[in-house]
Amino acid sequence: MRWGLHPRGPGAAALAAARNLWVSPRLRCHPGWRGTTRRLLVRSVTGASNQLQSSNNGRYRDTVLLPQTSFPMKLLGRQQPDTELEIQQKCGFSELYSWQRERKVKTEFCLHDGPPYANGDPHVGHALNKWFSFPTGVDLENGTCAHPLIPDKASPLLPANHVTMTKGTGLVHTAPAHGMEDYSVASQHSLPTDCLVDEDGVFTDVAGPELQNKAVLEEGTDVVIKMLQASKHLLKEEKLVHSYPYDWRTKKPVVIRASKQWFVNITDIKATAKELLKKVKFIPGSALNAMVETLDRRPYWCISRQRVWGVPIPVFHHKTKDEFLINSQTTEHIIKLVEQHGSDVWWTLPPEQLLPEEVLSQVGGPDALEYAPGQDILDIWFDSGTSWSYVLPGTDQRADLYLEGKDQLGGWFQSSLLTSVATRKKAPFKTVVVHGFTLGEKGEKMSKSLGNVIDPDVVINGGQDQNKEPPYGADVLRWWVAESNVFNEVTISPSVLNAARDDISKLRNTLRFLLGNVAGFNPETDSVPVNDMYVIDQYMLHLLQDLANKITDSYKQYDFGKVVRLLRAFYTRELSNFYFSIIKDRLYCEPAGGPKRRSCQTALAEILDVVLRSLAPILPHLAEEVFQHIPYSKEPKSVFRTGWIRTSSIWKKPGLEEAIESTCAMRDSFLGSIPGKNAAEYKVIIVIEPGLLFEIIEMLQAEETSSTSQLNELMMASQTTLLSQEPRSVTTDVIERKGTFLINLEGGDIREESSYKVIVMPTTKEKCPRCWKYTAESPDTLCPRCAEVVGGK
Ligand SMILES: [Zn+2]
Repeated sequence: MRWGLHPRGPGAAALAAARNLWVSPRLRCHPGWRGTTRRLLVRSVTGASNQLQSSNNGRYRDTVLLPQTSFPMKLLGRQQPDTELEIQQKCGFSELYSWQRERKVKTEFCLHDGPPYANGDPHVGHALNKWFSFPTGVDLENGTCAHPLIPDKASPLLPANHVTMTKGTGLVHTAPAHGMEDYSVASQHSLPTDCLVDEDGVFTDVAGPELQNKAVLEEGTDVVIKMLQASKHLLKEEKLVHSYPYDWRTKKPVVIRASKQWFVNITDIKATAKELLKKVKFIPGSALNAMVETLDRRPYWCISRQRVWGVPIPVFHHKTKDEFLINSQTTEHIIKLVEQHGSDVWWTLPPEQLLPEEVLSQVGGPDALEYAPGQDILDIWFDSGTSWSYVLPGTDQRADLYLEGKDQLGGWFQSSLLTSVATRKKAPFKTVVVHGFTLGEKGEKMSKSLGNVIDPDVVINGGQDQNKEPPYGADVLRWWVAESNVFNEVTISPSVLNAARDDISKLRNTLRFLLGNVAGFNPETDSVPVNDMYVIDQYMLHLLQDLANKITDSYKQYDFGKVVRLLRAFYTRELSNFYFSIIKDRLYCEPAGGPKRRSCQTALAEILDVVLRSLAPILPHLAEEVFQHIPYSKEPKSVFRTGWIRTSSIWKKPGLEEAIESTCAMRDSFLGSIPGKNAAEYKVIIVIEPGLLFEIIEMLQAEETSSTSQLNELMMASQTTLLSQEPRSVTTDVIERKGTFLINLEGGDIREESSYKVIVMPTTKEKCPRCWKYTAESPDTLCPRCAEVVGGK
């Protein structure tokens, strides 16, 4: 038996021709209808077979084929995280990565995760870094003024942008060694950066004998005032309260002073870096400009820090002269020592052992050694920024993906880029995905100091009070992350997590329906060839092919939000609300191995496979749990070891959409005429003028009247009559609805608008005690279909 779209007559011939096209024809509908969103208009109905699952307690219960699966409908409370842990062990999640790498059947994909965190556990959010932009200036230039204490010293008057009208204006004392703004004024005008304060915060000998060794913020201040008084330059003395930086640990004021640091001059590599960035894909695209801007703002990169721990900068400083020692020989020697003993050797070994013998003899041997190892450590961004050199061993290799928050545009993304460009003239990445930050429920930023950081472990396993902080499991958290438009700021809260849990719960029910109804089905022996399947089943495969392509593309674009939206629309709208509601009679009441039921099961098995593989990267635990419950899985080890989505190009067929969507248009007319009523208690007469639409619909029902045709299955009525002209006599107790449907095939080459009429009246048949459809001659007798099925057993 074949249920394909058989070409019959001129219209059908055109349809058959269209079937060979790869491109699906565009659907033009009457106003208010738009493509596939149409099914949103489908009204929910209480059909006979919809009630079978829960309430068929009659004497024929044993003859109906209800879904069978041990896949649980719900996981409550701790069951969710506990099941996830069980699945991780059973399906070998921890070995999956090495298994994938060993197989090497495909090109390796390198996601370089980062950057390494200096301390603390990861949390779901990061605070937002803000950039401010350093106002306007005033004009008082070219003058000079005399120094109050040093006779003969003329200080120039210079313009500076940071001196503004809003904070008072005039002549401001500038100390280039004691503040960023003063320093940049001095840099612009090539002034010396004299620093008269040493590391202990006291004046140096250069400040003169009166001030030497005096603490600048204490008695040093008093001495300066006295000196000004003595030279009669102090006009007035008073105390002012103003903001000033304090050390948060000691609660003492900070002395800002210029110090010698190590810098990378990135001016030379900036142009190359910017050129190389053009070949890098940024997601979102706007992140590229943001990265170039931060790169432009950075004239040099200070790579030295003064901290108690970190990776030492391997430079030797002369004990008395302003000289230092570093060359390839010393560096190679240090590398060998660190490889053997770890980086602590810099702090533990005596200097003469840190230097190679050749260098030591050049400076005059151990006894003459005037050099001491420097105390500076590397900026942590230098450490993390060079991680590519370990992750990407080849000189040409670039990671497929770097993924981090937008604060890393000036951080890890940039330090990785600069070190890679400087040493091998290559960007370390092909694609950079930049995400936003997590905000609290009211959009407030999440930070440790605010105490509103959400711990992912609490989301997964629940908090101390599990009523307040229930265990959601890892899948819920993953679904939320995938669903969020992560390129912007995203919010997390109990309501957001509950919504994610509800989504998964609905998905779980969809999967349970699929699993339950492929029980007793073996795809290898029971599958029905596509062209022999019910048109509605073919149509579902047609949609499935489209879904699979879109999902695969979205994953390639790292658009996980789109994956979630596509999946959710498919399982709620196409599956639960539409397809599942009309196939239950076929699944439950047709013979187990009958072609009508097998056709449906063939589609269900393919749907299950595509949906399962589509969701697996986001919901690995649910995917594995379902995979373990597939009745025909040969070796149910892990869905992740069985490849990506497989679809067939023959699933995509022009003409299928016309057949199903025109029928649904008529079905909506029918259901709209009996709001709130059971569609199965009505019979329908469809009158379509002769033409293309009639040809199409005729393929769904060969007989004039049927209660078992594909057309009647879609109409969900007691029976459907298909006519090409008005019936001769209809009783007055009927409802009539009219409509038109535009068929548009071969890109508009075949266009035909047909009008139809739907005539609805109560059925005269009785409810069949087995299938509950209104198809029986009397309440106690089976309908002809059920009589045949039961008799056949
Ligand atoms: Zn029946």
